[in-house]
Amino acid sequence: LSERLSGVFDRLTKQGALSEDDVKTALREVRVALLEADVSLPVARDFVKAVQEKATGQAVTKSVTPGQQVVKIVHDELKHVLQGDNEEPGELKIDNPPAPILMVGLQGSGKTTTTGKLAKRLTDKNGKRVLMASLDIYRPAAMQQLAVLGQQIGVDTLPIVPGETAVQIAKRAKQQATLGGYDVYMLDTAGRLQIDEVLMKEVEDVRDAVNPRETLLVVDGLTGQVAVEVAEEFDGKIGISGVVLTRMDGDGRGGAALSMRAVTGKPIKFVGLGEKMDALETFEPDRIAGRILGMGDIVALVEKAQETIEAEQAERMMKRFQKGRFNMNDMKMQLEQMQKMGGMEGLMGMMPGMAKMAKNVQDAGFDDKMIVRQIAMIQSMTKMERANPQILQASRKKRIAKGSGMEVSDLNKLLKMQRQMSDMMKKMGKMGKGKMLKSALG
Ligand code: GDP
Ligand code: MG
Repeated sequence: LSERLSGVFDRLTKQGALSEDDVKTALREVRVALLEADVSLPVARDFVKAVQEKATGQAVTKSVTPGQQVVKIVHDELKHVLQGDNEEPGELKIDNPPAPILMVGLQGSGKTTTTGKLAKRLTDKNGKRVLMASLDIYRPAAMQQLAVLGQQIGVDTLPIVPGETAVQIAKRAKQQATLGGYDVYMLDTAGRLQIDEVLMKEVEDVRDAVNPRETLLVVDGLTGQVAVEVAEEFDGKIGISGVVLTRMDGDGRGGAALSMRAVTGKPIKFVGLGEKMDALETFEPDRIAGRILGMGDIVALVEKAQETIEAEQAERMMKRFQKGRFNMNDMKMQLEQMQKMGGMEGLMGMMPGMAKMAKNVQDAGFDDKMIVRQIAMIQSMTKMERANPQILQASRKKRIAKGSGMEVSDLNKLLKMQRQMSDMMKKMGKMGKGKMLKSALG
């Protein structure tokens, strides 16, 4: 979509502000894209209207094309709708233990899986003691499923007592959670293939029995429009506090998220990204907005390309090391990698035999601020100096130190480090390091 929009605008002459016509043309494309992304028609219509009002008359920033500017406005508005006002994604109201969390939704939407994922998250990340209970009295296998998950992730489940009603199980869970000193108890309800009265009544009764702190609707993110209807229905009857969108690892376009949010006004708290117990993430409006706009793929592609380039760079560097070469260009690359990887530890991880070295420089007061300065010094060197640091004599040193706002003594330290590293590379080169380096590259 972003490309399509830029296309539309690149054909227009650049004006000082976005005219109503400009915006209209672009928004026709936006509307189509939203519908393609599974956003429901009324939601798409409202959305486009909101953007139109915001965009018309807005001054076009010099550095971007009008198309890019509209993309940005659309992206921001998507984010705004998805995010709501001052909400923290992934936050649950679970103080005052034991806090009941009611999980509702259609059968197969991922309730049981999500109950397990969320219990694990609350345990591992938030340090909560969690008790899970299955209220699926219609399918004994479903109760068993939760018990197995509980064992797998190390979270307690309420012992199964055959013949109880859903409300009885819920009450027993509450009692056990209170007596057992749990912070949270999660109720995994039964689902039906479609919404039906009996199911709704049962969930209502459970709700009234425990008065849940959070009622999370689990919906299959791939079902698009249906998901929105389900959300409306559940919210109307039960009253939900938030939504978990599952199967967002699939190729759905994410439009359901926008519709759901716009229709129910309820926050999307988490997204499910797979079947594994750790495949749950907090909902990120930015990412979904990108996905709806179709820019997500581009972002992913750029990231992938970057990774590949870095891997190639590392490999080239390793080859040089094997030959015992390590000049200021290598040094700079190392320092930049370190910056990216968060300092010394990254460097230690990158090459064997480096840990001791790393410790030495650390003891010498080498911190992350120092990395920035070191890079600045290398940048003040000429190409020839970088490739052959041994040619640096007093006058060159003075020039470099001045150019980077450092002292000659700082530069000397850098040179010493480079010499040490170079020496070590040579030693490693003689040691028949092939295997070692390979293992370092992974
Ligand atoms: P329930 O009937 O609502 O309890 O649904 P289940 O939790 O039993 O899930 C139904 C199926 O969907 C199972 O095979 C899950 O592994 C799968 N599932 C659940 N969440 C996700 C998800 O986020 N991504 C994918 N790919 N599969 C999921
Ligand atoms: Mg289930």
